[in-house]
Amino acid sequence: MERFKDKNVVVTGAGRGIGQAMAEAFAAEGAKVAVLSRNEQSCGHSANAINEKYPDSARSYAVDVADFGSMQECGKEILAEMGGVDILINNAGITRDGLLLRMSDEDWDAVLGTNLKGAFNSVKAFQRSLMKADEGRIINVSSVIGLIGNAGQANYAASKAGLIGFTKSVARELSPRKVTCNAIAPGFVRTDMTDVLGEKMQEEILKMVPLKDMGEVEEVANLALYLASPEARYITGQVIAIDGGMTM
Ligand code: NAP
Repeated sequence: MERFKDKNVVVTGAGRGIGQAMAEAFAAEGAKVAVLSRNEQSCGHSANAINEKYPDSARSYAVDVADFGSMQECGKEILAEMGGVDILINNAGITRDGLLLRMSDEDWDAVLGTNLKGAFNSVKAFQRSLMKADEGRIINVSSVIGLIGNAGQANYAASKAGLIGFTKSVARELSPRKVTCNAIAPGFVRTDMTDVLGEKMQEEILKMVPLKDMGEVEEVANLALYLASPEARYITGQVIAIDGGMTM
C-alpha cells in the first residue's frame, strides 16, 4: 500500500535509530524522504539503505539542527529539490547525562540546543511550506523523561518537556492552516542511545516498564505513520506515549 505517495517528508536525526526507521517506513509507503543527520556518512548510509529497498525515495543532508543558519540553508536546499514539504519529523536528539553537581553548562547547552532549539530551527525552515501543504503534519519526538523527569537527566528532561510546550503552541498557531503538530514520547526503545546504558542499567529500567520489554524502532515509526495519516486529521497538540505502560 502506498499511503504516502506524493508526500514529501523531512526526518531529522535519521542517520540511525528511530529516525532511520521512520524515514524507511515513509519510503515504504511511497513518500519521498529527506534524511537528515549530523554527519554525512551517517545520513548517506541511511539514505542508501532506504534507496536499496525503495529506489529513488531518499536523499541525505548533513546538517547540525542546533545551528539556526545551517538549518535554514539546508531547508532552502531541500525545498528547492523537493518542491515542498508535507510532513516534518523533529527527531534529532542527544543525551549528555550527569547529576546536577557535575553537569557542565556545555552539557546543558548542547542538549537544549539540539533537542529543543533544533526543533524550533527546523520548524522555522519549513513552516511556510507546511502551511501551503494539504493538511501538513509536524511530529516532535519527545520522551517519557520529559513527562516524569529523571535523576541525572535534568538537561534532557528540560529539553523534552520544553518540546511538549513547543508542540502545543505550534499546534495552536498552525491549526487555522490545518497543520497538526503532535509529540511522541517514547519510553525505552532499543537503539544506540539505549545500548550505551549497559546491561545492569537496562535491567533496572525494565523494572519500571509494566510490559517488561523494550520497544522497537519500527513500533515508534508506525505511530508516526498514523499521526501523519489522514486518519489522524483531528488529533493535534497531543503527546502520545509509546512506553510499555511506563507513564500510565
Ligand atoms: P540515536 O540512535 O542516538 O540517533 C540520533 C540521531 O540524531 C542520529 O542520526 C544523529 O546524527 C542525530 N543527531 C544528533 N544530534 C544532531 C544534530 N545536532 N543535528 C542533526 N542530527 C543530529 O537516537 P535514537 O535512540 O534513535 O533517538 C531518536 C530520538 O528519540 C531522540 O530525540 C531521542 O531523544 C528520542 N528518544 C529515544 C528513546 C530511546 O529509548 N531510544 C526514548 C525516548 C526518546 P548522526 O547519526 O549523524 O550522529
